[in-house]
Amino acid sequence: MQTLGVYIHIPFCVRKCVYCDFLSAPATRETQRLYVEALKKEIRENAGLYTEYTVETIFFGGGTPSLLKGGHIKDILSTLKIYYKVSQNAEITLEANPKTTDLKKLCALRAAGINRLSIGLQSADDRELKILGRIHTYEDFLQTYGDARAAGFGNINVDLISALPSQTLESWINTLEKAVSLTPPPEHISAYSLIVEEGTPLYEHLEQFPPIPDEETERQMYYETKRILERHGYERYEISNYAKQGCESRHNRIYWQRGISHTHDYVGFGLGASSTVGNSRWKNTSDMSLYLSNSANIKEDQQTLSENDLMEEFVFLGLRMTAGISAAEFHRTFQKNIEDIYREPIEKWVSQGLLARDGDIIRLTDKGLDFSNTVFADFIL
Ligand code: SF4
Repeated sequence: MQTLGVYIHIPFCVRKCVYCDFLSAPATRETQRLYVEALKKEIRENAGLYTEYTVETIFFGGGTPSLLKGGHIKDILSTLKIYYKVSQNAEITLEANPKTTDLKKLCALRAAGINRLSIGLQSADDRELKILGRIHTYEDFLQTYGDARAAGFGNINVDLISALPSQTLESWINTLEKAVSLTPPPEHISAYSLIVEEGTPLYEHLEQFPPIPDEETERQMYYETKRILERHGYERYEISNYAKQGCESRHNRIYWQRGISHTHDYVGFGLGASSTVGNSRWKNTSDMSLYLSNSANIKEDQQTLSENDLMEEFVFLGLRMTAGISAAEFHRTFQKNIEDIYREPIEKWVSQGLLARDGDIIRLTDKGLDFSNTVFADFIL
């Protein structure tokens, strides 16, 4: 039996944040209803492809999945459970934004089977939230967090973003301190640096926004993140992800460990969702009217991954994890020695202190994690 991670894309938001390049937009209740129907159809019609799999994780991402009615989420989950073999202890995550939920909805989500909540806080500073175009304040977040605990969620991630327009080092530290001081503290914290993506209002009108922290400040923010979170008992298990012991995101692990074991496949349902199963990769259409009208013919960009693609993926995804990659596992997967393929970059970066070799394991050092993209560039075949 193989392991399957299921991603479900909910492409709706109250309004667009200025930095966002995710596939999401405001929509009427009727569009949301039609979308859920199309989603369920897609899930049903593809079930035959995954009879050999056990679904270990389900992740509702977006967009703002918490914008959907609780009944819609329940319906989608029931469809999955009817047509797929979903593990008894599957991790089922839903991304939630403050101001789109209340205690009643969170109780309904918990009852429907959602057992992990990922709440988008991004910043504890209301001025920064406003600049980003977020729909909520820090106070709104506290309400959602308290409601989530009251609804019985025992596994919560809080999403944070550093290097925001106008953000100072002090303000970032304040956001981190507030996040770890929540009662009880979140089990998991994701802390990414803002990337100004082309095509977003922030990119197009950058000069109209307060300045983004310079590189030196951004680096200090990065070090403070690690220092503060580790001091509060969070272990960094991936470049931007920290968890209390045993609370790492299983869904993320399936994704990152796909390189390490091809028994970890993932399928995405919904608008623009990506899938990688075996050596096949595809993406669903991003055209909403096409998705709503014909969910049987929505796969685009289908490609067969070559052995080189798979070896690169093994390294890129595996090295994102602080646990690193196993040379023996590489050999088991490709019947090749990793040194025969990657001797030069391994020796180069080990000698420069960005990679470490502990017997079978090759991993990025703390310094290597800071410069991961430079290291990864040398592993392209
Ligand atoms: S809530 Fe998230 S997905 Fe929606 S617009 Fe803002 S950043 Fe994008």
